[in-house]
Amino acid sequence: MSIDDNKFSDLRADCEKCFGLCCVALYFSASEGFPNDKEAGQPCLNLLPDYRCCVHDSLTERGLKGCRAFDCFGAGQKVARVSFGGNDWREVPQSAPQMFAVFLIMMQLHEMLWYLTEALTLQSARPIYDEIRSRLDEMEQLTQLSHDWLEKLDVATEREKINPLLQQGSELVRADARLGKKTRSGRSRIRPYADLVAADLRKTDLIGANLRGACLIAADLRGADLSGTDFIGADLRDADLRGADLGRSFFLTQNQINSAKGDLSTKLPPFIERPPHWSFD
Ligand code: SF4
Repeated sequence: MSIDDNKFSDLRADCEKCFGLCCVALYFSASEGFPNDKEAGQPCLNLLPDYRCCVHDSLTERGLKGCRAFDCFGAGQKVARVSFGGNDWREVPQSAPQMFAVFLIMMQLHEMLWYLTEALTLQSARPIYDEIRSRLDEMEQLTQLSHDWLEKLDVATEREKINPLLQQGSELVRADARLGKKTRSGRSRIRPYADLVAADLRKTDLIGANLRGACLIAADLRGADLSGTDFIGADLRDADLRGADLGRSFFLTQNQINSAKGDLSTKLPPFIERPPHWSFD
């Protein structure tokens, strides 16, 4: 296990230690690659009594892309084992509504932990490491609060505290990535929150680009050099990443990569796992 794996290990889903929270607590719809339309708090029809998924081995064949892509950033096991001390919501049904509510909050806290943890791996962000570490410590402490406190937590305020820091880190990394580079065609279209659905970006200069919140659904990024590119909050569903170089892209999550298309030639950051289903697409 590498140093990065150690840092990120608590921020990956460990379903064995969870009570199927993502398969119960979340609202989801069949049109987004889930088995059916269901309300939040209602168990998925495929969830077994021991919280295993009865179709887990055939999510790809069944077209359940939403399930396949989902990762809770390790929030499930934190809520089940820490916030609720291992008390199963099926055995203590009165705790279920609060556990599901806390899970939604914890997922957002763990997502922020993910970005802050990653920011500390970005060499260009070194000038702001102290501030990042301090926010990371605060965020970790929040995740240890009791379930009563967590349920009342104002997550939007916590997000506002870290966003400027992540943006500052992004500017530092992207500026370094652009050093000595000439700007090539198509760059003017690239801006935060850009609508790039199905766009052909194979020849667009994306090194050091800011793709924050960009909609890249089904975009063609084959062979693209995405070094120093910020992907925070970008929608990569069905984006074609075959042959793309994301080895030095940043603020990428496992969910984003799971929802995209790629293959063995796609280069990924060290803390992102190659999705096993890529070979099927
Ligand atoms: S199909 Fe399986 S993974 Fe998807 S929500 Fe249902 S139980 Fe969970």
